Amino acid sequence: MKNNALFSPVTDLKGVGTKTAANLGSLGIYSIYDLLFYFPFRYDELQTLPLDQIMDGQKVMLKGIVATEPFVSRFGYKKSRLSFKLRIDHDVIMVNFFNQPWLKKQLEIGQEVAIYGKYNVARQSLSGFKFVVTKENDSGMAPIYPVNKHVRQKKLVDLINLAIEDFLPEVKDIVPLAIRPKYSLLSDQEIIVKMHHPKNGQEAELAKRSAIFREFFIFQIQLAELTASNNQKARGKAKDYDLTEIAKLTSSLPFELSADQKEVVNEIFTDLHSPRQMRRLLQGDVGSGKTVVAIYAIYAAITAGYQAALMVPTEILATQHFKKIDELLRPFGVRVALLTGNTKTLERREIYREITDGTINVVIGTHALIQDNVIFKNLGLVIIDEQHRFGVGQRQALINKGEDPDILAMTATPIPRTLALTVYGDMTVSEIRHLPAGRKPIISAWKTSSQMDDVYRLMREQLAAGFQIYAVTPLITESETMDLKNAEELHEKLSHDFPDQKVVLLHGQMPGAKKDEIMADFAAGEINILVTTSVIEVGVDVPNANMMIIYNAERFGLSQLHQLRGRIGRGQTQSYCMFIADPKTESGKARMKIIAATNDGFKLAEEDLKMRGEGDLFGKAQSGLPEFRVGNVVNNYNTMVVAQKVAKELIAADPELKKAVHESLREVLEYKKLEQNRI
Ligand code: ADP
Ligand code: MG
Repeated sequence: MKNNALFSPVTDLKGVGTKTAANLGSLGIYSIYDLLFYFPFRYDELQTLPLDQIMDGQKVMLKGIVATEPFVSRFGYKKSRLSFKLRIDHDVIMVNFFNQPWLKKQLEIGQEVAIYGKYNVARQSLSGFKFVVTKENDSGMAPIYPVNKHVRQKKLVDLINLAIEDFLPEVKDIVPLAIRPKYSLLSDQEIIVKMHHPKNGQEAELAKRSAIFREFFIFQIQLAELTASNNQKARGKAKDYDLTEIAKLTSSLPFELSADQKEVVNEIFTDLHSPRQMRRLLQGDVGSGKTVVAIYAIYAAITAGYQAALMVPTEILATQHFKKIDELLRPFGVRVALLTGNTKTLERREIYREITDGTINVVIGTHALIQDNVIFKNLGLVIIDEQHRFGVGQRQALINKGEDPDILAMTATPIPRTLALTVYGDMTVSEIRHLPAGRKPIISAWKTSSQMDDVYRLMREQLAAGFQIYAVTPLITESETMDLKNAEELHEKLSHDFPDQKVVLLHGQMPGAKKDEIMADFAAGEINILVTTSVIEVGVDVPNANMMIIYNAERFGLSQLHQLRGRIGRGQTQSYCMFIADPKTESGKARMKIIAATNDGFKLAEEDLKMRGEGDLFGKAQSGLPEFRVGNVVNNYNTMVVAQKVAKELIAADPELKKAVHESLREVLEYKKLEQNRI
């Protein structure tokens, strides 16, 4: 890469040391480029009302000057009040901030501030929620960024402003100038300035429109590069698999493949056998049996003399797939390996070596698979499970480890074909529409928190019959600590309410080895109730667990609820899923009714997409669609289509982006590749 200052680490900014850099890293911000393109998700409008027009209890933004020294008084346990007078023209009001004593350091007499809070007319006081320091020339739009416990809003604002001040001139356009006027797109520098500091709401909207296009354009260029290089080579390798060996696999299975599974296996075999590279997307509801289909593909590739790799988004899932595949294929002399971020160094080196010398036939893992050290002898098949959880670059990185390997992507959250083509490029779609025979449909119900007695009764019944239960609390992405707290509290409560049962907590922040241990205990039936966050979401398979309670179900998206529910209903017995929710909105109630009444993932995915289009933000990772920072595939679908057209034309004209006008685009793409290798 060219030595462009834009891509240098954040530590190149004045006053940013390694600690701040690490904190920024937790938001995915590593370079100055990342800072400049880290956009607000909304703005607080600082427009203010005259005092005499504000009603009692109204939430308002007031702008004024700090008129007295802010004073902190403490009372009770950890409680405090920070008070000062605020002069607004000729009036003076009282401002109180409760339990935010640290704000004192940020306030000075004479400072101009804007404070958002709740106004009390009788007392002429404002109970503040939040404040911003304003400048003379301030536009009245305060940017609000997604942050976490490591980085505070104000700190981020300061750093972004610093980056703009020092590095804006370095930013070069990546969307070609020739294209911009046609779609009224702003330049990259304009996008940055107007996204962070819009003069008004309209300007913010316009900037966002261009930012979305830019983001989609980068994505579509990556996709176009990927498909163009695949088409150029025009073919992969014809694999001569061994049907006699494969017949042995069939007779070792404890069940017969369903008609849908057989059909998909045949489609895959035809692809493997053809000299064209396979690019196939397998959509199938949770529990429809995609794993065994993948195992057929893997074993076929191995009998043809190739290695295979299976990449999955979580460690739990990797471990589980590993166990299942190892158990099924080891008897045929297949060497199966597991590689995740938690594999110990020594073992990891050994695995690297054996992948390279070809001793290992199939490796199952997380993002750890795309590390540079993983070098295959002869990678012929790449399988990506829950593929929407990976970026284009990550998928490509794994694919690049083979010579035109066949590619099978799998997903449990089906999306319409046209959408699949737009976001995944040219892939042939296979579907498993029906669950394996003999499954009893899960009985689902929506219960409010006042109906917990019913739920407990059913739980006791199932536990007494020897079954196991999942108790799930939602993952609130905004705060990891809160997720943990919710799960810990639930664990305490259930341990108390079910004293004679073994109740164990499993959460995302535990070390991998601990998680594996707990999952193994649960699978062995040694745990009766497993309390967990949605780490459990994908692919986990414990047939004796026949009941699931999902707390705060209104916080999950429909698809995610369905995914979670898919953990049960895997055995021969009747299963139960209880959605505990007290939704306040009509759409929240509608969702609970739909999920309780529908077991068909394809139908739910459709409903979910529809509702998501109306601004449903929860359960994002489960939508079956790639995630973007500014844009949303459903809401901004038309922009995505235009971006795809523009990107395809550009790549057709200059496949390797060698032209000078595409230099800055190439630089950004190269930077993105580095980014994708960070774990
Ligand atoms: P998913 O499509 O969600 O990945 P899995 O592959 O985990 O589903 O399969 C779910 C369960 O169904 C597993 O326990 C698996 O062994 C079982 N299964 C898969 N295919 C069949 C079949 N044809 N008949 C009976 N059980 C099956
Ligand atoms: Mg699966």
